[in-house]
Amino acid sequence: MDTYPISTELQDRCVNMIARLVNAPIKDGEPAIGAGCIGSSEAIMLAGLAFKRKWQNKRKEQGLPYDKPNIVTGANVQVCWEKFARYFEVELREVKLREGYYIMDPVKAVELVDENTICVAGILGSTYNGEFEDIKLLNDLLVEKNAQTGWDTPIHVDGASGGFIAPFIYPDLEWDFRLPLVKSINLSGHKYGLVYAGVGWVVWRSKEDLPEELIFHVNYLGTDQPTFTLNFSKGASHLIAQYYQFIRLGHNGYKRVMQNCRENALYLRDSVEATGYFNILSKREGVPLLAFSLKDRSQFDEYDVADNLKRFGWILPAYTMAPDAQHVTLLRAVVREDFSRTLADRLVRDIIRTIDYLEHRAAKSTSLVPIKPLSAAENVNRIGHDFLRRLRESAAKAKSQGVC
Ligand SMILES: *Cc1c(COP(=O)(O)O)cnc(C)c1O
Repeated sequence: MDTYPISTELQDRCVNMIARLVNAPIKDGEPAIGAGCIGSSEAIMLAGLAFKRKWQNKRKEQGLPYDKPNIVTGANVQVCWEKFARYFEVELREVKLREGYYIMDPVKAVELVDENTICVAGILGSTYNGEFEDIKLLNDLLVEKNAQTGWDTPIHVDGASGGFIAPFIYPDLEWDFRLPLVKSINLSGHKYGLVYAGVGWVVWRSKEDLPEELIFHVNYLGTDQPTFTLNFSKGASHLIAQYYQFIRLGHNGYKRVMQNCRENALYLRDSVEATGYFNILSKREGVPLLAFSLKDRSQFDEYDVADNLKRFGWILPAYTMAPDAQHVTLLRAVVREDFSRTLADRLVRDIIRTIDYLEHRAAKSTSLVPIKPLSAAENVNRIGHDFLRRLRESAAKAKSQGVC
């Protein structure tokens, strides 16, 4: 950072753009507070630590015990929250899910809050089905509870996926720093931030929300460098890539990419629904993904579908819902920037072929030997042959036209 000071500059510029994207209340020319991380997981560790330390400081001041912090989340949280809780010794209080309702219920979350709650973490875009939690309702209920109790329990929003979606295609949805209790937000640069794996972001509402004692000032490299990260040395390539994407695409570019993702996700949704085999478990609004489960699980289940789809090169995870909806199994297809409508058609075609095959297999289950899935090497070979064939064809064509 000292040798290549521009990398710090680029990081700061990204933080400033992201903080304004999520409506941090900062004045013109005022720097935003945040950090570039390896991903949302590191961002969440840092945000969690800031909440824990702030709560501890306040309890110490008041002469109250500060040894039993807890954090309230939905049971649908991503595993990094469980990691945070275990590594940093914070009790995790999870609001359970139920059949047909797969996100944190804000009413129940606020019921779990007590004087030892360091924050409530809402998710903008549940990992399980992409659904947005109702952060506005959570904020309003918590404002009420804080007024009654005299506590000031804050909110963190895990915007790993939705943080780069909502500002562009749901600008009126209030989930960010427009809500007074939202004190920090994380986003994954390597999800809808459109950068390759290894970058995430955390931003705070204001300086007051990040305890100064967590910031280290080091001068090993010649100048004063404030750092708040869990690691030290890392490459700057991801920051540069993130900065590049921001200035290359701009707000409008991101908006168009996200709109396209949403349209393709809805197209996929309608096509998969039209096959008649599946229940759809994701909403039309949310992270552009499709979560679905089989209507009829008597002959084969979602794991069989996922396993057999691999033969066509598709990797769709099959997994169970969080407690208390573990009996629901689902398949998930995340629609990213590079998932075109043509690919959506192909996926649906391959899902239908897979179901046909599984039905056929079930009908003659005693005699049929399962088809062995192609290994990764075989898949590569197949692609390689196809590519070579096309190359030869185009070379021959060019030659016949006297081009080369
Ligand atoms: C992916 C994800 C994370 C973890 O983010 P990484 O960037 O992979 O570290 C956390 N929370 C949610 C909701 C996620 O979807």
